[in-house]
Amino acid sequence: MSATLGALLRRLQPDWDIQVFERLEGPALESSDAWNNAGTGHSALCELNYSPRTADGDVDISKAVSVNEKFQVSRQFWSYAVENTILGDPTEWIRPVPHMSFVAGRDGQDYLRARYDKLAGHPLFPGMGHTTDFAELERLVPLMARGRSAEQPFALSHFENGTDVNFGALTRQLIKYLTRTGTEVHYQNQVKDLERNSDGTWRLTVANRHTGDERTIDAKFVFVGAGGGALHLLQKSGIPEIKGIGGFPVGGQWLRCTNPELVEQHQAKVYSQASVGAPPMSVPHLDTRVIDGKKGLLFGPFAGWTPKFLKMGSFLDLPSSIRLGNLLPMANIGLTEMGLVKYLVTELAKNHGARVDTLRDFVPSAQDGEWEKVIAGQRVQVIKPNG
Ligand SMILES: Cc1cc2nc3c(=O)[nH]c(=O)nc-3n(C[C@H](O)[C@H](O)[C@H](O)COP(=O)(O)OP(=O)(O)OC[C@H]3O[C@@H](n4cnc5c(N)ncnc54)[C@H](O)[C@@H]3O)c2cc1C
Repeated sequence: MSATLGALLRRLQPDWDIQVFERLEGPALESSDAWNNAGTGHSALCELNYSPRTADGDVDISKAVSVNEKFQVSRQFWSYAVENTILGDPTEWIRPVPHMSFVAGRDGQDYLRARYDKLAGHPLFPGMGHTTDFAELERLVPLMARGRSAEQPFALSHFENGTDVNFGALTRQLIKYLTRTGTEVHYQNQVKDLERNSDGTWRLTVANRHTGDERTIDAKFVFVGAGGGALHLLQKSGIPEIKGIGGFPVGGQWLRCTNPELVEQHQAKVYSQASVGAPPMSVPHLDTRVIDGKKGLLFGPFAGWTPKFLKMGSFLDLPSSIRLGNLLPMANIGLTEMGLVKYLVTELAKNHGARVDTLRDFVPSAQDGEWEKVIAGQRVQVIKPNG
């Protein structure tokens, strides 16, 4: 977020003095690191939570259209940035990978067909394919077909023009552009405090994590692009918009496979549906990843739990974010969001074998030893004061 905004500002206001403070030793080591997210440039080609079924059995595609439009805007910016040498070699961070949606059962077939009928004629969703034919499944995603009964009803929608994005590599290129155009980027510098001066400007207190030294910096504008670290900083800023807002951390874990023989049998990002009550962040998917030129597969996400708001955060992150104003909304979640609570408890109880069992819905022939657990990024679910 900060690298993108910095690049846009450099372009629009080249004379502005911009400084970036990052608490870690390099850029994009938290959520934007390649293995800490699934690298799907969310374009709603395959994510079914953006096109839910309505009460009358129809499919609502309005969210899918708005998400897709936003991704096209990102692509326009990236194209512009490549043409104008803001960004370097795009193959380091964006690759074509087909996007697919897979559902099992007759009910799933009806839903996916209805979704296909709604999206297929839309200009933002060109070249959409759809099949319930097992031979097509074998051709498109052989790893998912192997060991599966040809009698079992399923449906698969697919787009050839999906992408795999390495947001970490993209961030590093944007930061390079920022530094070569005069932006100061300070690593191992943690913003500890943020308060408003009497003239409306901001005062930041920044600690050098290497030496322990603290200093203050005054700025006209501050962009808090701190990911999981944002809630604390916004609370310190005292802005009225943050009153009553809380955060609840949900960790992410993947199963990863780097065995070239298996990796070669799957060339797609395949999304299915979240189980009942589970949040959209839990939608299971099997993804081809291309990271530093090497292909791998990931499956998940599975939920983990720690009170940290950042992967490399502190165990005090959750308790120190609790205020009088957000205590009630946070307590309410435990009472009203039983689906989320049940999802978390079930997820936390899973061992490696149970995770590979879940994977077998996608890859029936999966063996425990072929997949390893990796810890993905940490997410902070925003809890709003009013519902
Ligand atoms: C399991 C998982 C799967 C995901 N899959 C996808 C996906 O497929 N597609 C997609 O588009 N998105 C996905 N996401 C979401 C995506 O990864 C994040 O939305 C995105 O990376 C957030 O970028 P950011 O710049 O806001 O935060 P980050 O990349 O986390 O950057 C925040 C930075 O701020 C720094 N920081 C924090 N506090 C301070 C402080 N006080 N002082 C100085 N520096 C500080 C951190 O060290 C970090 O470097 C996924 C996330 C997870 C966890």
